[in-house]
Amino acid sequence: MKKIIIHWTGGNYTPNEKELESYHFIVDNCGKIHAGNYTPLDNKNCYDGKYAKHTGGGNTNSIGIAIAGMFGYKNKDSVGNFPITRLQFEACMKKVAELTKTYGIVISPQTVLTHYEFGLLHPKTSSAGKPDIEFLPPFPKLKSSEIGDFIRQKVKWYKNKINFSP
Ligand SMILES: [Zn+2]
Repeated sequence: MKKIIIHWTGGNYTPNEKELESYHFIVDNCGKIHAGNYTPLDNKNCYDGKYAKHTGGGNTNSIGIAIAGMFGYKNKDSVGNFPITRLQFEACMKKVAELTKTYGIVISPQTVLTHYEFGLLHPKTSSAGKPDIEFLPPFPKLKSSEIGDFIRQKVKWYKNKINFSP
């Protein structure tokens, strides 16, 4: 696996069938990680239809993890009734760190990124203009352009913690 793309589901706090179909992992509001219907390795080959379709134009060799929530989100002043919580955000970062270790993925802006960032990097795909993650409710002062780097710092921190724990 070459990269990890981080999403929000745009749904409520409980993963539904469609979401489990679309992502390899979903983090609920209690911080619990739900495994989706497909495993990361199913995305090595995206020609057989049996893979998690999480990122238009970016599914091959790509792991999709989503934070459950953000249904009704319009903008930073109108986030709906299911804003991402701090607990669930941290649980997601920890899981991403574990995945970088499991699959030997180096943390960089090309390899650990949000769906929003993927859309900016690939403007001709259906991922262009995706809002996840342009705003992080637990950290409302972060600008959209800062969230990717913030996430990568967090993931590095958790990865170091894993590396040095006995
Ligand atoms: Zn997405």
